[in-house]
Amino acid sequence: MSFVFGAIIGSFLNVCIARIPNGQSVVSPSSHCPKCKAEIPFYNNIPLVSYLILRGRCHSCSEGISVRYFIVELLMALLSFALFSRFGLSFVFFVTLVFVAGLVVISFIDLDVRIVPDVISLPGIILGLVVSLIGFFLFGSASGVVPSPLSSILGILVGGGFLLATAWIYEKFTGVEGMGGGDIKLLAMIGAFLGWPAIPITLFLASLVGSVVGIACMLWTGAGRRLALPFAPFLCSGAVVFIFFGQDLARFYLPPA
Ligand SMILES: [Zn+2]
Repeated sequence: MSFVFGAIIGSFLNVCIARIPNGQSVVSPSSHCPKCKAEIPFYNNIPLVSYLILRGRCHSCSEGISVRYFIVELLMALLSFALFSRFGLSFVFFVTLVFVAGLVVISFIDLDVRIVPDVISLPGIILGLVVSLIGFFLFGSASGVVPSPLSSILGILVGGGFLLATAWIYEKFTGVEGMGGGDIKLLAMIGAFLGWPAIPITLFLASLVGSVVGIACMLWTGAGRRLALPFAPFLCSGAVVFIFFGQDLARFYLPPA
């Protein structure tokens, strides 16, 4: 059930990923083929299933549809299933589901057009803080991965501040712009939703995996020069790992509560 629910959300996220970079509305017009403009009837717009039945082609002009649509729906379905298995039907489940949905949109837009959209990350910072306040008033304390309001505020400051400082120092010494401003806002959003302990782990995992993938890509393509990889997908992956394993990982550097 949570798998199907996730796939449906993924279907909507696909619309966001395709339209947000162009500044288009995500609610209207209804879905249509990017090539022949034919409207996609609801029975051909079933998440995951339609892509397989139509073998990734438009029903009217047979133009190939990007496999990204299928990947996003499957990814979101799996994430939804995993979050539900972990947290059950709870406040934390809905919060993390919304957060992860935002991360998926940001990652795929960054992969696609190399932009971390402010329209997601900036409201995301506010929403993360608001959610921590709601959690605090409902339960009187931090609940699972939803941090206390103080931890959320510190997360925004540490996440935003740390990267801002790093970017400034990097630019000072090399004269090259390193980390983009979009990544800084994204990390502040991650800090807002997960609290400050998430920042070091997310950064560590993102840098580690980013380096490995970066080196692999350089070897694969034979490009000796600096290869600019989008960093947001790595930050987002780090944040998702923190949601599932953060409590265990944080024990290494936090005093026992
Ligand atoms: Zn078409």
